[in-house]
Amino acid sequence: MQAFHKKLLVLGMGGTIAGRSQAQGDNVGYRAGELPVESLLPRGVNDVECLANVQIETRQIAQMDSKDMDHATWFVLARAVLAACADEAVAGIVITHGTDTLEETAFFLSQLFTPSKPVVLTCAMRPATALSPDGPQNMVDALCVAANPSADGVWVVAAGAVHRPTQVAKVHPYRTDAFSSGETGPVGVVEEGRLRWLHSAGENSFARTPSAAAPRQFEGSSNLGTAANALLARLESNGLPRVEWVVSHAGVTPAAVTTCLMAGGEGGAVRGLVLVCTGNGTFHQCLTKPLRDAEARGVWLRRSTRCTQGSIVVGATSVDWPVAMPLDPVKARISLSMDIARHDLAGLTPQATAPVPG
Ligand code: ASP
Repeated sequence: MQAFHKKLLVLGMGGTIAGRSQAQGDNVGYRAGELPVESLLPRGVNDVECLANVQIETRQIAQMDSKDMDHATWFVLARAVLAACADEAVAGIVITHGTDTLEETAFFLSQLFTPSKPVVLTCAMRPATALSPDGPQNMVDALCVAANPSADGVWVVAAGAVHRPTQVAKVHPYRTDAFSSGETGPVGVVEEGRLRWLHSAGENSFARTPSAAAPRQFEGSSNLGTAANALLARLESNGLPRVEWVVSHAGVTPAAVTTCLMAGGEGGAVRGLVLVCTGNGTFHQCLTKPLRDAEARGVWLRRSTRCTQGSIVVGATSVDWPVAMPLDPVKARISLSMDIARHDLAGLTPQATAPVPG
């Protein structure tokens, strides 16, 4: 019988990597989230050098097209990840996920805590039934990163590149190399099962910082049972605080803010607004008054930019609202929501660490 030296856990969420099309070779007319996660492990996976003697367990968490991702599913996944991180038998975790919201799930997890073992999200752009699917290689690469003890933290692995949750975004709707970390580039590459970091140790430790508002107090396994679990329990009972976007654009009117704040429906009252600014954090002058009014009513405000490269450069005399650096609007929204949740929790439990200002 084979003696296993370490165990990796693969959590299945669905996505194109588990997609199936009617006609073999159809790369676009398929249904995501059809095949069970255990079927996504390529045959002979243990023949890869770094995976020899690695036991791979699978668990289906969800089976969905990630365009339909919701917070409740995030919380179920987060519970499973926290449990696996606290389980000494598990060396690393892989999450198979759809590409559409993969960067959001990765960023949400990285905002909840900084794991002391690898948590690697991977995906595919072609369904499992494609003539030449990309999922199997992505799965192998993700497993190799998850098996590497130097890779503690949350990562996205796709098309041979390792990306940080803060930087990564889906930038292409079709090609297999659909993810980019923008001007910083990926943090590493996987070559024949070997992980090669592209940053020096110093740069890499910066690269691992989830965001300017990173919940540093959640680092390390010793805190996993306390801070992250407390925050997750709060989210499970109260939901993620509702944060919406206001996009500044030519012809925008104050109603962009006022109608947004009046919005009803699921999610409760709007607690925060991410202002998707033009250029270097600027916004249409007509938005100033409704935004100031919103702030006076206790709505949290944060700026991000419509520019797809760089981040807002704050001047010494800047009087405008905090900048969600270096986050794009998609991640700025999650970051603000998590900051509000941490703030709420700190208010309830004085022993909890105070929120880090954004
Ligand atoms: N719609 C799919 C999903 O996000 C796309 C993919 O996985 O590539 O689940």
